[in-house]
Amino acid sequence: MLPEELFQAAQARAATLSLPRAQEAREQLRAQALALFSRIPEPPVYHRAEDPARKAAETLLPELEKVLALGLAVARETGWGDTTEHIISALRAHGEALCLTERGRFVQAEEAWRRALELERLAHPTRAIGSKETALPPVFDRTSGASRFDPKQEPVAQVKLLCPNTGCKRINDYGYIPGPGGRRYVCPACGTPFLAYFGELRGLDVEIRRSSKRYFFTVDEVRGSGVSRIEFEEASGDEFPVAKRDLLVFLYTEARELKAVMNLTNNRLMWISPASSCFVVTAAFGEGAPELVAFREFRDEVLSRHVLGREFIRAYYRHGPGLAEWVVRRPEVRRGVRRVLKQVHRVLTKTRSGST
Ligand SMILES: [Zn+2]
Repeated sequence: MLPEELFQAAQARAATLSLPRAQEAREQLRAQALALFSRIPEPPVYHRAEDPARKAAETLLPELEKVLALGLAVARETGWGDTTEHIISALRAHGEALCLTERGRFVQAEEAWRRALELERLAHPTRAIGSKETALPPVFDRTSGASRFDPKQEPVAQVKLLCPNTGCKRINDYGYIPGPGGRRYVCPACGTPFLAYFGELRGLDVEIRRSSKRYFFTVDEVRGSGVSRIEFEEASGDEFPVAKRDLLVFLYTEARELKAVMNLTNNRLMWISPASSCFVVTAAFGEGAPELVAFREFRDEVLSRHVLGREFIRAYYRHGPGLAEWVVRRPEVRRGVRRVLKQVHRVLTKTRSGST
């Protein structure tokens, strides 16, 4: 197939497509294009009989044509935004590379493929935050007197984060030095600290339940080699569009309660509504009670390590919301639950200080 034939076929298909709402169509394009990009192999360096790259190009071309058609339809309906334009250019360059690979013209294929990678990066603006490499400074700089062994100034990116503290939820700019691990920030609006965990999306599974969704995120550390799994249950049912390699940030209160997830690549936010909080304990103590910290630590550090504990957590999440509601409506039960929990809490804190 020639690249021009591919583009014409995509254009013809685009004319027949009708699209959902603008924002959703753009997110659909982003998700499909980035998933496809991650499957396109590097063109081979030399010729071989029965080359697997040529076979791969054959199967990927029809898929690319479909995604390119979607891109052209999105551009037609919603205008050529920056991201859409870069995605379409990257798709065209990859299409060219695949056509050339299929026909065994590997040198030109390599050229088009490199161009496609550059365009891919532009189509995914937050990738640059994590991968920007600064040139190595000279061992000794005569004019400034600095040597390479002086601590290097890290580039700081500005990110917009939402304060996860109850009653605040204000958005502010924060400095972010790309690297693995969580960060602790203090919200300038309410003066309360919060924790932010940054990661690039590797995979997301969503399990649809009767009145909630269970999210299983797998994220790669930014500039690190670690992988984290973050799961929670969410009851609002709001859409949270993501694509592979999006830069996500998980926002926790200082009591390590996950409150929100932000996708910094497309500026979408998911505020996690209480299906995932500690129902019974929250009802008895009220939101934000210090006792909750000990219970959550107990849940995360002790219960989740044992089979029976995990069984308990599952049962608790299944029956917790109903039980908590029942507790809240009965002040005398609430006082009783509170008394029992206080005792458990005393034991918990004693065990913890005894074991560490
Ligand atoms: Zn705040």
